[in-house]
Amino acid sequence: MKRYIMIIDVSKCHGCHNCFLACKDEHVGNTWAPVSMPQPRHEHRWRNILLNERGQYPLVDPVCMPVNCMMCENAPCIKAGNGAVYRRDDGLVLIDNEKAVGRKDLVGTCPYHAIWWNAELDLPQKCTFCAHLLDAGWTETRCSQICPTGATKFMAVEENELPSLIEKEGLERYKDEFGTKPMVFYKNLYRFTKCFISGSLIMDGECCEGAEITVFDKDGQIASRTSSNQYGDFYADELENGVFDVKIAANDKTLNIENVNVVSSVYMGELTL
Ligand code: SF4
Ligand code: SF4
Repeated sequence: MKRYIMIIDVSKCHGCHNCFLACKDEHVGNTWAPVSMPQPRHEHRWRNILLNERGQYPLVDPVCMPVNCMMCENAPCIKAGNGAVYRRDDGLVLIDNEKAVGRKDLVGTCPYHAIWWNAELDLPQKCTFCAHLLDAGWTETRCSQICPTGATKFMAVEENELPSLIEKEGLERYKDEFGTKPMVFYKNLYRFTKCFISGSLIMDGECCEGAEITVFDKDGQIASRTSSNQYGDFYADELENGVFDVKIAANDKTLNIENVNVVSSVYMGELTL
């Protein structure tokens, strides 16, 4: 049995909002019954672009991360819906636009905040993976079709091939701890969810390229490792919050910095070896 999945590469999204606009173009003012009723022009973001700015001046990493209904396999909205939300055999989770009338409570059941309330229609609404188009033979959603960078991919995969695809592509689920088993997967999710320690290295009055930077956690385990670029800048990435020791080595020189407190991404400034 094939299942529809979406793969979003956070590193490829540049926040153009083309996907948000394509969703609006497809759904505002259009009834695609029984799949969806018209999306309001304002307030609803069935396709939402979250923003995160990591680091501090001058080493800043602005990140955009698209989110929409995750089409969860273990969906709280279905459990709460008593028939007002259902799953099709292809894995799509859809709102029943007749049974869900008046069910404002469903908005609060989604841990991803993917359900929006339409006061005019008295109806909860959300992304449908453009099910009306898929049923008409499309192989893309409007948002995946429009994406100019390839950040959003849409595909149908055999259910038994999904684990190997996840492994091969290094896919992750956003907020996996919710336990809802989303069918939207992310690549390079760390760019949105994790932190880095950065700095600018100077040696003999020049930018220090090629220095090795190793970050250790308090158990002495390597938490991140990187090297400095031609400007002497480095980003030791994919760190959880915590306290770390940093070792910087170039040629025969070494600099140790202890107890770097990471609660968000840190710029340690100019460091001279
Ligand atoms: S993301 Fe939210 S609305 Fe979508 S299936 Fe999961 S719980 Fe339901
Ligand atoms: S269209 Fe693609 S690049 Fe643009 S915001 Fe959407 S996912 Fe990101």
